[in-house]
Amino acid sequence: MPPPLEQQRLLTTAVPGPRSEALMARKSAAVAAGVGTTMPVFAERAGGGVVVDVDGNSFIDLGSGIAVATVGNSAPRVVEAVQRQVEAFTHTCFMVTPYESYVAVAEALNRLTPGDHEKRSALFNSGAEAVENAVKIARAHTGRQAVVAFDHAYHGRTNLTMALTAKSMPYKSGFGPFAPEVYRAPLSYPYRDDAGLSGEAAAARAIDVIEKQVGAANLAAVVIEPIQGEGGFIVPADGFLPALAAWCRANGVVFVADEVQCGFARTGAWFACEHFGVVPDLIVTAKGIAGGLPLSAVTGRAEIMDAAHAGGLGGTYGGNPLACAAALAVIETITEDRLVERAVEIEQVLLPRLRALQAGDDRIGDVRGLGAMVAVELVHPGSTEPDPELTKAVATAAHRRGVVVLTCGTYGNVLRLLPPLAISDALLTEALDVLADVLAESAEQPVARVLDLETTS
Ligand SMILES: *Cc1c(COP(=O)(O)O)cnc(C)c1O
Repeated sequence: MPPPLEQQRLLTTAVPGPRSEALMARKSAAVAAGVGTTMPVFAERAGGGVVVDVDGNSFIDLGSGIAVATVGNSAPRVVEAVQRQVEAFTHTCFMVTPYESYVAVAEALNRLTPGDHEKRSALFNSGAEAVENAVKIARAHTGRQAVVAFDHAYHGRTNLTMALTAKSMPYKSGFGPFAPEVYRAPLSYPYRDDAGLSGEAAAARAIDVIEKQVGAANLAAVVIEPIQGEGGFIVPADGFLPALAAWCRANGVVFVADEVQCGFARTGAWFACEHFGVVPDLIVTAKGIAGGLPLSAVTGRAEIMDAAHAGGLGGTYGGNPLACAAALAVIETITEDRLVERAVEIEQVLLPRLRALQAGDDRIGDVRGLGAMVAVELVHPGSTEPDPELTKAVATAAHRRGVVVLTCGTYGNVLRLLPPLAISDALLTEALDVLADVLAESAEQPVARVLDLETTS
């Protein structure tokens, strides 16, 4: 066992250091250019609330590898469970000779997801693969083809999920043609909607588009992130999701919640849809589910899930035994360590501090989020016009000061905070201090922005 990782921010070299620079040169020569990186540093170890790079720099982690290491990197129960499993067997293929851990993960998902109706689950490898399967299942159940997704949506990078995803650059541009029978409806985006537009009114606006442009009789599924991830951590107005779900129920349309990013304790509930009192027909999970091992799932009403014929769902690796062992350990860790409650505590550290910053800085247009999924939307002062250059400059400056922070948003103007739930309050506060400093400095030296454009995304 390596020694425990010091929970500290520590810079031993400039960022990136010489070893990372050398590896980045090898990456450029060996890895396809389409695979970008947020930061120019290479990881060596990670755990708790830090990522340590190959030069010995220790970064405070506000990204969790994009909401994956929710229980922390190499969390003790996950390490132990995977080690035990890797010695027993690594793969038999669940579709050939099944194993108990897959069934146990399905049972846990059926129990943990909202609603006390009878449920079934199926396991896959990636979030995109699970979203695709949710659509397959909804089509098999309804005998209909059309699917509705929303403005600002992100559902993945495969062909069908590119079609569901809203943003052209970088996700879709040049990669068409896209899957047919995918339609887009307007979202509830309180910061950018007309002032006072209620959630119910925003839902009526979306439903009107769906009824006029698609027709309920043709519609298999509505796919929505209860809190949008890549699109900008958009929390819909109260009433939006319930009205949409009620319309789906009344029209025999499968309501699919893509909780790949917002699920699994991230927002201070096991699933984000619980905040809105919505019980989805199908719920898609991935990212935080298995502590970094590749696993995803579709869980939902038994009569819908069982509509696909035997052999119609699956895949060689789906529900791999190492990933299932990890998922069971993640679920135990969230439960035993009370991480749902911890996510609420993290919100109570993040939001007041960010709102205080907002009060003194007219470039901060909006602060929003739930639990450990919180965002800052940056705009040109006195307007709601997005400021992606400032956003990128702040993120890059934070990286150089030892804080991993990600950006997102259709307009590229959102800083998103996704710390692991294993992070300490002290590290969180220190990271917020760094963000406050770089924001203050960027206000003093706006020209420095243009110098800070070397990393991708
Ligand atoms: C990341 C993400 C996906 C895609 O997951 P992958 O594992 O990258 O395929 C789908 N939906 C949402 C909401 C996501 O955040």
